[in-house]
Amino acid sequence: MSYGRKRVLVTGGAGFLGSHLCERLLAENCDVLCVDNFFTGTKENIAHLIGNPYFELIRHDVTFPLYVEVDEIFNLACPASPIHYQRDPVQTTKTSVHGAINMLGLAKRVGAKIFQASTSEVYGDPEVHPQPEDYRGSVNTIGPRACYDEGKRCAETLFFDYWRQHALRIKVARIFNTYGPRMHPNDGRVVSNFIVQALEGRDITIYGDGSQTRSFCFCSDLIEGFIRLMNSGDDVTGPINLGNPGEFTMLELAETVLRLTGSKSKLVFMPLPADDPKQRQPNITLAKQVLGWQPTIPLEEGLARTIAYFRERVGH
Ligand code: NAD
Ligand code: UDP
Ligand code: UDP
Repeated sequence: MSYGRKRVLVTGGAGFLGSHLCERLLAENCDVLCVDNFFTGTKENIAHLIGNPYFELIRHDVTFPLYVEVDEIFNLACPASPIHYQRDPVQTTKTSVHGAINMLGLAKRVGAKIFQASTSEVYGDPEVHPQPEDYRGSVNTIGPRACYDEGKRCAETLFFDYWRQHALRIKVARIFNTYGPRMHPNDGRVVSNFIVQALEGRDITIYGDGSQTRSFCFCSDLIEGFIRLMNSGDDVTGPINLGNPGEFTMLELAETVLRLTGSKSKLVFMPLPADDPKQRQPNITLAKQVLGWQPTIPLEEGLARTIAYFRERVGH
């Protein structure tokens, strides 16, 4: 038994962000239940936690009901990379929507506080820049990214309806692009793609002309934001942006990765995927005010740490 320890459920706990969160919660003396169906997550991400008596791994798909007894729930289960979430788009929507319903039903039954990993994608291809939380977004409801964007939007709706209807304690974070060790090397996201390509001496694939922008947050900064949001007063529901406002074009990112790896890879230009947002930068005024949170790790430092991780994996 673990008297006095908070029991925390992390769905998607074997994924990139989930594994860092499980680690952090164990360091804070929580009893952690990690639930994952290993769609994009790996056992390797959490192998170092197996054997810790306060860590429990459950293979489970959140689209099915789950009966456990916990104090807090972090709902992260959902593929996050476009190539993965577009592989089985119906399952992606089900994971966000049915997964949210099941986890909210669980939270309601046991009286747990519940956190939702929402996304900057709820803003779609934004007409307002940078994006504050009250911007309602510009999402193409029938495009290839909609399974993810609309699934996450509907999950937010469910969170706020359970809050209004059942007085659940909810915490909704809108996460902007985050990177770091344990991103899957074949995950298809830009940071892992560029680093692996640079380390292997392969061409760096720039989609479009590379002028589109993203704002990249290092994973440890983001997890600190998760913990602060979960520990905030019950009046703080979010949605609240969590991300690093430092904004870069994909060409700038490629050049930085080439410099930090010392790679001689060439840039190649490929077609821009449909509905690819042109620019993205979080307005984090609310997170600063309410959580006293802001990122501390600049892009070059975070990239250097991520490159060190991938160097070991790709055998350089
Ligand atoms: P990830 O793909 O590494 O992790 C997602 C995890 O969820 C994986 O372990 C996967 O196996 C699991 N999963 C997927 N479907 C499931 C299901 N039906 N049942 C149980 N488990 C399931 O991605 P990540 O980057 O760690 O993202 C974690 C969460 O944060 C996701 O909800 C994502 O939408 C959100 N998010 C991430 C970013 C980012 O930049 N990393 C940005 C915005 C939002
Ligand atoms: N649920 C769950 N675990 C629980 C409680 C509920 O997975 O501990 C699921 C349940 O299967 C249901 C969903 O959560 O489909 C929503 O539950 P809620 O009680 O809100 O709705 P209802 O059961 O009345 O449809
Ligand atoms: N991108 C790129 N080359 C790649 C992978 C992605 O130029 O090999 C671009 C992609 O078109 C997008 C940006 O990088 O404009 C971020 O893509 P990612 O899939 O990482 O995240 P998201 O589009 O969901 O923000």
